[in-house]
Amino acid sequence: MKGKDDESKMLEENLANVKKNIERACQKAGRDAGEVTLVAVSKMKPLADIETLVKTGQMEYGENYVQELCEKYEQISTPVRWHMIGHLQTNKVKYIIDKVVLIHSVDSLHLAKQIEKEAAKKDITAQILLQVNVADEDTKFGITPEETMTLAEEISHFPHVRIRGLMTSAPLVDDPEENRCYFKKLHKLFVDIRDKNIDNVTMDILSMGMTNDYEVAIEEGATMVRVGTGIFGQRDYKK
Ligand SMILES: *Cc1c(COP(=O)(O)O)cnc(C)c1O
Repeated sequence: MKGKDDESKMLEENLANVKKNIERACQKAGRDAGEVTLVAVSKMKPLADIETLVKTGQMEYGENYVQELCEKYEQISTPVRWHMIGHLQTNKVKYIIDKVVLIHSVDSLHLAKQIEKEAAKKDITAQILLQVNVADEDTKFGITPEETMTLAEEISHFPHVRIRGLMTSAPLVDDPEENRCYFKKLHKLFVDIRDKNIDNVTMDILSMGMTNDYEVAIEEGATMVRVGTGIFGQRDYKK
């Protein structure tokens, strides 16, 4: 059996590797590595793993489930920057609204209205991304590319919500090159909305790329990548 120190070392090595790959992808694309934020996706992984990586300076963590996020938020010894990346139900917005720095998964006006309501109560401005189902997969949440501009304009009128950009989860593919067209398409949409200069909309975050395809996503303009397995190892969904 592996000891605790071995596991910590493995996590640190994984993180260092991912960072190296991010730098390499940036170099290839002629971008500054400082333009890309790494969100370590810690869903279904123990708090101890996060605590290990916090010591190396990794401060951005992504969670999918409200209850898990809240538990880790309460229990962690050093405050970190939490990202809500999973599907969010309106009745759960109140639990995370003042705990997360960014909600990546806004996919309806209905949800945005609830976020506005809860943010107003706390007198904060919620930072959000619109989740786009850019590959039009039946199994995925997210709005269509065609709906995105209109939704951005509608949400722009909400005083306690600020749109910061777009997010997508590309299809699960064997060859990450297969997803390049989707990343390109989302980047174009991102630039189109940015160029509209909508009041109260700051298009500065493009959240795309996961373990299997973050390098390609960076080459196509991602400013935020969400990497779970590549850092923490496989998740055990049976547990
Ligand atoms: C789980 C998850 C990730 C991380 O996926 P990996 O393939 O483990 O890197 C990223 N984004 C979202 C929305 C997720 O649900």
